Amino acid sequence: MSVRMGVNTHQHGDHAYGNSLLPASTVLIGHEHMREWLRVDPVIDGCPPFWSPVPDWGGVTRRLPDVTVHDRLTVHVGRTRVELLHPGGPAHTTGDLVAWLPEQRVLYAGDLVFSGLTPLVFMGSVQGAARALDWMAALEPAHLVPGHGPLLTAAEIGPAFEQLRRYYRFVLDTADAGITAGRTPLEAARDCDLGEFAGWADAERIVLNLHRAYAERQGTEFDLFAALTDAVAWRGGPMPTSV
Ligand SMILES: [Zn+2]
Repeated sequence: MSVRMGVNTHQHGDHAYGNSLLPASTVLIGHEHMREWLRVDPVIDGCPPFWSPVPDWGGVTRRLPDVTVHDRLTVHVGRTRVELLHPGGPAHTTGDLVAWLPEQRVLYAGDLVFSGLTPLVFMGSVQGAARALDWMAALEPAHLVPGHGPLLTAAEIGPAFEQLRRYYRFVLDTADAGITAGRTPLEAARDCDLGEFAGWADAERIVLNLHRAYAERQGTEFDLFAALTDAVAWRGGPMPTSV
């Protein structure tokens, strides 16, 4: 079967480094910010040892989208209409796209939805990720394909989104309390009780997400290296390599 078109939901390696494994004839589509991030991304050339085992990307090369989207683009796959939509601002990253099939009411949400594990918004926005939930809910999907975790049916989407909203609210409240008390993001993460979110995989993302929340609340620069260093410190060792 030939693959005529492919869509990158965002630039992260577990979603975009496989581009070069698709046929050369495949037209790749991504958000304009996603393309620019992947163009300058150093991690594809060698992953820093924040994870263990250090990911080996295999025989991939940097392959960028051929078509970029700013706001929205509709593609037609046979009779199937596929709307590629940007949430309007930073959410999981600054270059997210979802694929929405309005007739089938199927939403491919990429990493705007983590299903049953800790969401990650450190390269986007905590508040933006929360807003993106409302934006996706307004589409009223019957089925949702998350970036990670099991598929969600219509009845499961509402409760799953509610829990994600509570998590983002928890991150923002923890950041506000930490800033008021003069704590660093790592100290705030160590002091907080993850409560209902403690059972989610990748709990150390609280550190990464707090770094982003601090930057958003204080209007300061986000330091990617410092955030990852603190997440490793919180765990007491490198993060597990899993998707
Ligand atoms: Zn991602």
